[in-house]
Amino acid sequence: MVLAFVAGTALQLQQARLWLLAVYLALLCVALVVLAHHAFWRAPAKWARWYKGALQAWVVLSACLVLGFAWPGLRASVYEAQRLAPALVGRDVVVRAMVRGLPQSNPMGVRFGLEVEQAWLDGAPVALPARIDVGWYRGLAPRSSPTEPEHWALQRQPQDLRPGERWQMTLRLKAPHGNLNFQGFDYELWMWERGVQASAYVRAGAQDAPPQRLAVTLWYPVDRWRQNLRSRIEAAVGGSPSLGLLVALVVGEQSAISNTDWALFRATGVAHLVSISGLHITMFAWAARWLIGWLWRRSPHWCLAYPAPHAAWLGGVFAAGAYALFSGAGVPAQRTWIMLAGVAALRLSGLRWPWPQVWLLALGLVVLCDPWAVMQAGFWLSFVAVGVLLATDAHPQQMEAPGHIGNWWGARAGAHLVVQCGALVREQLRISAALAPLTVLLFGQFSVVGLAANLLAVPWVTLVITPLAMGGVLCPPLWSLAALAGEGWMATLQWLGAWPWAVWALPLPPLWLGAAAGGAGILLCLPLPWHLRLLGTPLLAALLLWRPPAPPVGEFSLLAADIGQGNAVLVRTAHHALLYDTGPRYSLESDAGQRVLVPLLDAQQVRLDRLVLSHRDADHVGGAAAVRAAQPQADVLSSLESGHPLLDQASAMRCQAGQRWEWDGVHLEVLHPLPEAYAQSTLPKPNALSCVLRVQSAGGPQARSALLMGDLEAAGEAQLLGRAAATGQSLAADFLLVPHHGSKTSSSAAFVEAVHPRTVLVQAGYRNRYGHPAPTVVQRYHDLAASYPPESPWQWQDSPHCGAFLWKSWEPENGICARMAMQRYWHHAAP
Ligand SMILES: [Zn+2]
Repeated sequence: MVLAFVAGTALQLQQARLWLLAVYLALLCVALVVLAHHAFWRAPAKWARWYKGALQAWVVLSACLVLGFAWPGLRASVYEAQRLAPALVGRDVVVRAMVRGLPQSNPMGVRFGLEVEQAWLDGAPVALPARIDVGWYRGLAPRSSPTEPEHWALQRQPQDLRPGERWQMTLRLKAPHGNLNFQGFDYELWMWERGVQASAYVRAGAQDAPPQRLAVTLWYPVDRWRQNLRSRIEAAVGGSPSLGLLVALVVGEQSAISNTDWALFRATGVAHLVSISGLHITMFAWAARWLIGWLWRRSPHWCLAYPAPHAAWLGGVFAAGAYALFSGAGVPAQRTWIMLAGVAALRLSGLRWPWPQVWLLALGLVVLCDPWAVMQAGFWLSFVAVGVLLATDAHPQQMEAPGHIGNWWGARAGAHLVVQCGALVREQLRISAALAPLTVLLFGQFSVVGLAANLLAVPWVTLVITPLAMGGVLCPPLWSLAALAGEGWMATLQWLGAWPWAVWALPLPPLWLGAAAGGAGILLCLPLPWHLRLLGTPLLAALLLWRPPAPPVGEFSLLAADIGQGNAVLVRTAHHALLYDTGPRYSLESDAGQRVLVPLLDAQQVRLDRLVLSHRDADHVGGAAAVRAAQPQADVLSSLESGHPLLDQASAMRCQAGQRWEWDGVHLEVLHPLPEAYAQSTLPKPNALSCVLRVQSAGGPQARSALLMGDLEAAGEAQLLGRAAATGQSLAADFLLVPHHGSKTSSSAAFVEAVHPRTVLVQAGYRNRYGHPAPTVVQRYHDLAASYPPESPWQWQDSPHCGAFLWKSWEPENGICARMAMQRYWHHAAP
C-alpha cells in the first residue's frame, strides 16, 4: 500500500502542468471513500475466495495510487495559487516584512529571507507570496533594465540584519528562475520545497526611500540564538581553517564552508557528515538514544517508572528534533526527523512490526509530509542509511548495533569496547556499500577512498568533533579543541584525497539502470544468505561498464549548457570533444565552470581535447579556471593576450582564421580573427577579437554545419562577409549561436541573410541587465524565417525559455530543450 502511494506521488511529480484543483480534490475524495468502504465492507460469500482477495487487493492498491497522486497535486495547486503575480515582476514594491533565517554576509552584500506582512505598489496594497529571498548588494545601485541610466552613486549599504526584525524596504521582485540543465541541481524545485516563491533585491539608491528598521520583535528566537552562536564561534576560533566546519556542524550554516573544502569533502565521500542532512541527524538520534538508555539504566527507580528502551527512543527523537530545529530545520532535517519519529512511534506503541514494514511506513510518512522529497538525492541517501541501521538493529544477536552498547557498558567495558568498534566498522561498511551504487546514480561518482575516509570520519565527526563543538555552546574553550580536531581531520582528508584514483567518476547512468543497481547494492547489505545477496552483482557490473552514447562517426552534437548570461557550448564528435567558452562568474566563490560545466563533463564522461575561449570577457572565461583544473589535458585556443593568468601553460595557442582540423570526419575551422589583428599596436576591443568557430559534418552536399560566434559585433560580421565573398566560401549554417547574446550591436541584416540558419540559439540570462536579446534582433531572425519555404521548419531558442539545448547534426530538426524535455509544474515559465 505504501509503495502504491509513493508510486502515485512519483507519477504526480512527472506532471508538466498542474490540473485544476477540483480534479485533485475529486480524486482524493474518491480514493478516501474507496479505502473507507473497503475497511468496513465484506464481499458477498458466493464469490470464490481467491477472486475476492485479488479484487480487493487490486481496488485497495489502486486507491492508494490515486491517493498518492491526488494529495501532492492538491497541495501544489493551493501553493501555486499564491505565486508572484506576473504583473509584479520587475516592479518596485514597498514591503513591510520580518527577517527570518540566518542572514548571510559575503563581499558582495548580504542575503536573507523575508516573511512578508504587507506590500504596496504605487501606494496601493498588493498581495505577495509570504516568503521571499532577498539580496542587498554593496556598491553601485544596479541597473535593472537597459533603458535605465546607471546610478553613479553608491547605494545605501547593507546593514546588520537580525532575525525577527521588522523592516520596510523597496524591493525589485522576480519569480524564482534558475539555470536548468539536463543533469544537476534544479533551483526551482529547491525554492518550491522551501516554500519561497519570489526572489528580490533591495532598491537602496539615492532616489529610493531608504530601508527602515521599524521594530525589533521576539519572533524567530531560535534563529536569533543561532546568529549569536555563529558570532561567538567566529570570535572564538576566527583564524582556524575549520571555522566553516564548526559553524556548519553547530548552526547548520553550510555556506560557511569554502568551495575548496566542499570539493575535498565530496571527493573523499564525507560531505554527508558535514551537511546536517538526514544521515547526520540519524546518527545523532542513535547516539542520543544510546546515551539516554545507558543513563536510564543507572537508576532502578527510573526503570521501574518507565522502561528504559522507551525512554531511550523518546529521548533520541526529542534530541534529534532539537538538533534539527537548531540547525535551521532545513527540508532534509525535517524529513529525517519525520522518519525517525514514525519509527519511534511504532516502537513505543508496542507493535512488533518487522523492520521492512517500519521502514516503508517511514517512507510513506515522509512522502505524505513532503512529496517532493522523492526528487531529492539526499532523501534517498538517508532513507537507505536508516534502512540499513534498522535492518541491523532488528538482528541484535548477529550484530551488536550501537543501540545496544548500553547493555554491557557497565559490566565488561573494555572487551565490549573492542566489539563495539568492530560493530561500528561493520555498520559503516554496510552503509557505504549500500550507498555506493546510489551515489553513482545521484552524483555520478564513487569515492574509492570514501570507505577509508568514512571509517575514520564517522566516529571522529560524530563522537569527537560534533560533541566538542556542541559542548562549546556551554563552555566556549571547547571550541578551540573542536577546531584542532577539525584541522587534524581535514589534513588527513587532504592526504587521502591526494591519492590517485581517490574519486572514481562514472558517467551518470540512466534512471532504470541506476535504480536497479541501487536495489542490488541494498540487497548486498541485507542480512540474507550470501548466495542471495550476490544475485545483484551483475547489475552492479553493468553500472560500472555503462557508457553514454556518443555521436556517430562523421557527425557532431552541440550541447549549449544553461549557464545564465554567457556562452558555453560543448561540441562532441565520435571520439573527441571541444568546449567553446566557459560561461560567467557568478560571485567571488562560484562560477559556471565548477557549478555547471565540470559536473556536466563528469556526468557525460567527456574528456576534452580542446578548450576554446573566444575572448577575454568574464561571461566567456568565468568558468575557465575550474574547467582547466578538472581537464588539464585539454589544449587551449583563445584570443587572450599572452601573459593572461589563464594561459600559464605551453599548450595554449592563439585562435586565428585559417586554423582547421578534422575529428572523426567532422571539419572544424576558425574563421576569425585574422592573424594581423593581433599585430596592431592598439589591440581591437575584446569583442572584435572573438574566435569564430565553424563545425561541419562529413557527408558532402548533405553536410550540416554550425557557426559559433562569440561576441563578434557588426564590424566583425562585415569582415567575415567580405572574406567569404572574396574566397567564394559560403557562410550558410544550419545552426547559429547568435553573436553577442542577441545584442543589437551584432546580427546585422546582411549577416543574418548570409548565414540563413535553421536553428537559432541565444545564450543569455533570464531578465539580464543588458536586455539581451534585443527585440529588433529577434524580429530580424523571425522576418528572415518568414521567407523560408513552409515545408522547411526552423526554430528559435533562448536560454530563459529553453534551458540547456542539445542539437545533433544528424537530426537537425529535433533540437531538445531541457525546459521542454524535463518540464515540471514547479518550473517557472518565462513570459
Ligand atoms: Zn558575452
